[in-house]
Amino acid sequence: MNDAGEGAMTVQVDRWSNGPFEPVADRVLVARCQPCDVNVGLVVGDAAALLVDVGTHPEQGAALYRAAVRETEDAARHPVPVRWALLTHDHYDHWFGLSGVRAEAGERLIAAAHAWFGRRHGAEEDGENERVQRQLGLADVPMPDLRLESAQCTAEDPWTLDLGGVTVQVAWLGHAHTPSDLVARVEADGTAHPGRTGVPGAGGRAVEGAAGRRPVVFAGDLVEESGPPQAGGEADVPGWAAVVGKLVEFGGEDALYVPGHGAPVDAAFVRAQGEELAARAAG
Ligand SMILES: [Zn+2]
Repeated sequence: MNDAGEGAMTVQVDRWSNGPFEPVADRVLVARCQPCDVNVGLVVGDAAALLVDVGTHPEQGAALYRAAVRETEDAARHPVPVRWALLTHDHYDHWFGLSGVRAEAGERLIAAAHAWFGRRHGAEEDGENERVQRQLGLADVPMPDLRLESAQCTAEDPWTLDLGGVTVQVAWLGHAHTPSDLVARVEADGTAHPGRTGVPGAGGRAVEGAAGRRPVVFAGDLVEESGPPQAGGEADVPGWAAVVGKLVEFGGEDALYVPGHGAPVDAAFVRAQGEELAARAAG
């Protein structure tokens, strides 16, 4: 979502709901959440699990964390801690739930984001984040513990999390939807649960055949399926078009792309959205 669009002004941020975590590939689940139809990811390794974004409301974040813990209790046949939260960018619908996640998880959780994350939050300019913070009555919104500099997470040399049988590569591809957009490419090594016919997702539910083995890319709001990409004041539309091209190179032709909002899409959809952005920039 943006922080300047008319739609964002009418969102009732205190009314939230979380869809169930549904497997989309081996070890990767996605919950569709309201408001804003925002996607929250859960990646479950043998040693640890990762949330990708945490929703709008603190209570929503707490509920997402508890749901993630339930999923990880039987996912790898033994409980694994939900150790990480990756915040794709600093729009309220992707991270204001962090207070609630923190309240549930305590010190066990490490929240990571790009170094640019939250730079504008709390600044003099009164943006959408600040309006939502007031609307929710939040005295404070916790910042991520770990901020990645651009040089620490390039497409060529991504920041890498080994969750045990699942590798997550995190990259910053340039100023696009915001200055702080991070993307995550998830690949399971296929060694888990040998001898089963389907490829299990977490929670014991199978994603059948080749679909289960494809890499998954969490694209944040670089890609939107539920509507046209939302460009707020901090977006760099020409840069964004170029970043979308880099995203397909980073994620690969066969990957499943999870947008910030809406249903997962393929590389062709992502490329077409890049062309739309390029036309908008030229236009
Ligand atoms: Zn956004």
